[in-house]
Amino acid sequence: MKVDNVGNVHSIETFGAFDGPGVRYIVFLQGCPFKCQFCHNRDTWSTRTNKLMSVDEIFNDFSKYKSFYKTGGITVSGGEPLLQLPFLIELFKKFKSEGIHTCIDTSAACYNVRENDKFKELMKYTDLVLLDIKQINDEKHKVLVGSSNKKVLDFAKFLDELGVKVNTRHVLVPGVNDDLDDLITLRKFLDTLNNIVKIDVLGYHSKGQIKWEQMGLTYPLDGVREATKDDVKIAENILKSGFKYMQE
Ligand code: SF4
Repeated sequence: MKVDNVGNVHSIETFGAFDGPGVRYIVFLQGCPFKCQFCHNRDTWSTRTNKLMSVDEIFNDFSKYKSFYKTGGITVSGGEPLLQLPFLIELFKKFKSEGIHTCIDTSAACYNVRENDKFKELMKYTDLVLLDIKQINDEKHKVLVGSSNKKVLDFAKFLDELGVKVNTRHVLVPGVNDDLDDLITLRKFLDTLNNIVKIDVLGYHSKGQIKWEQMGLTYPLDGVREATKDDVKIAENILKSGFKYMQE
């Protein structure tokens, strides 16, 4: 078996309803270089081997439930799926050859312009990218995520050049990344892109805290309140009002 045909999988969800259109088969890959303070999948960070699965094993498992995915498809999430780029290329090549809608849920934590050929290859088999932009202000991004947002913004521009459809997502954490000036700056950045099909503002909730505690770790956002509907509405007004979406 080729090594590119095997992925390090954290878990699989067979009825995903929030990560791409329709009902989706979601593969969560193991490993993430970011360290988001609000991470609700803290147990995906380690790159240690969890469960190895081949492209064929995943496809065969998907096929057991395929009648559910007629208007959906497969989404690969994480962790950070781009960390296993060669495997992702092989996986999506297989699914696209079977006419299945493919989607990546990424924070672009390991986008590398020097590997653009490989990223272009992956995009040949990718129908939609769900791109998390966690904080447009780079200094605040370093605090919230543990590193710069340069790769994230470069990846957004790269996808725009290729004309790949993108659904941006912004987890809104009160008092952490809901500053109005930062949201206006984010809007200005989104306005420079011509490939956005959807913008989501996701209100922060603390459901991920339990995983940190189960791992014996201190939750960095302990005590930070959850986002209200009004918080989300204010951010949506800034990010979405009058936005020129890509025509599908
Ligand atoms: S990018 Fe996703 S998986 Fe990685 S730390 Fe952030 S929220 Fe967690």
